[in-house]
Amino acid sequence: MGNTINTQHEQLGKVRSTIREIFEYGNKRRMEIGAENVFDFSLGNPSVPAPEMVKKTYMELLQTESDIELHGYTSAQGALPTRKAIAENLNSRYGTAFHADNFYMTCGAAASLRVTLGALITPGAGEEVVTFTPYFPEYKVFVESSGAKLVESISDPETFQIDFTDLSSRITPQTKAVLINSPNNPSGVVIREEGIRQLAELLQERSAIYGHTIYIMTDEPYRELVYDAETVVPFVTKYYDSTIVCYSFSKSLSMPGERIGYILVPDACDRAADIYAAVCGAGRALGYVCAPSMVQKLIARCAGEVSDVQVYKKNRDILYGALTEYGYKCVYPDGAFYLFFKALEEDAGAFCNKARDYELLLVPADSFGTPGYVRLAYCVSTEQIEKSLPAFKALADSYK
Ligand code: PLP
Repeated sequence: MGNTINTQHEQLGKVRSTIREIFEYGNKRRMEIGAENVFDFSLGNPSVPAPEMVKKTYMELLQTESDIELHGYTSAQGALPTRKAIAENLNSRYGTAFHADNFYMTCGAAASLRVTLGALITPGAGEEVVTFTPYFPEYKVFVESSGAKLVESISDPETFQIDFTDLSSRITPQTKAVLINSPNNPSGVVIREEGIRQLAELLQERSAIYGHTIYIMTDEPYRELVYDAETVVPFVTKYYDSTIVCYSFSKSLSMPGERIGYILVPDACDRAADIYAAVCGAGRALGYVCAPSMVQKLIARCAGEVSDVQVYKKNRDILYGALTEYGYKCVYPDGAFYLFFKALEEDAGAFCNKARDYELLLVPADSFGTPGYVRLAYCVSTEQIEKSLPAFKALADSYK
């Protein structure tokens, strides 16, 4: 036998994501013409600072805690005070009754998703995970590497809410879980309460028919990033018992590099104790035990904090208003920090290449399961947004 390595992982490592590719192109252009002249809307890196309380708490922790306390291992599933603080915060906001042992601390939503899939999926059993277009492209990596197949359900093309006729045909006896993401990356759409209710009903019905529970996995890095008073993000565990929440503080606290989030397995979830054990086991098998300890201590004190998201709202309002006026067909973004619109030609890749002539860096949404659409991440300064508008207008005019 030759010197073999895991070719599947080798491929994953060699193929750069489209978003990274564009970001690298942006770096090159920034060097060539100056950062202020490149309108880079490619990456979902929060642009507002972390809340003041975060900086203050880090300083206090450094001054008051011993190095061993601060940098030592915590319990594998996360420090008790951290899990307790998160439970109390959710209970006060949603009237739930969670406790520390419902939570497993992880390195952001990515780890939360992969560990949860590791807990639910039996490799080789032909199981399927259904998600809705458009979706975060890493879902495919997480689902396939856990040994299941990712099945796309096509959302309503006008509203990007769930299309229940389509979903109904995608749910089969092989379905292990339905993965939702609201507010959504890349559309910014929040699934309405009625949609969550209908989803819960459908899954209850199918679970009974197939004789096994279909779980909901809800990926919630953008939970707190909504901009209109009337937009309510339903807390899914209240509508469907067998819901597992995959949360991240990356966006709500503007700290994606700190890698912190959690998995919530409510008591009401079918086989809750076994699933929690399997989450601990998957965390162990995947090497995700004991999330970073200093940031866990921070979360214990800042669980209810949220960055000032008003800048995102302002950016959304300016962009949505201007782009719609220029003739782009945009999906109204309730939250997150993405604007999603139809490319002005069939091939979104060709459209995004043309946008580069105007120094606009946009992401074609083919890998999100929606060919012909484009994602724009507006987590940049408002000044950049305002400066970019003539470029969007010129790009639109070039198609007239
Ligand atoms: N899920 C979605 C929908 C995302 O947009 C992201 C990151 O942008 C993640 C998961 C991964 O989040 P994290 O950086 O917390 O791992």
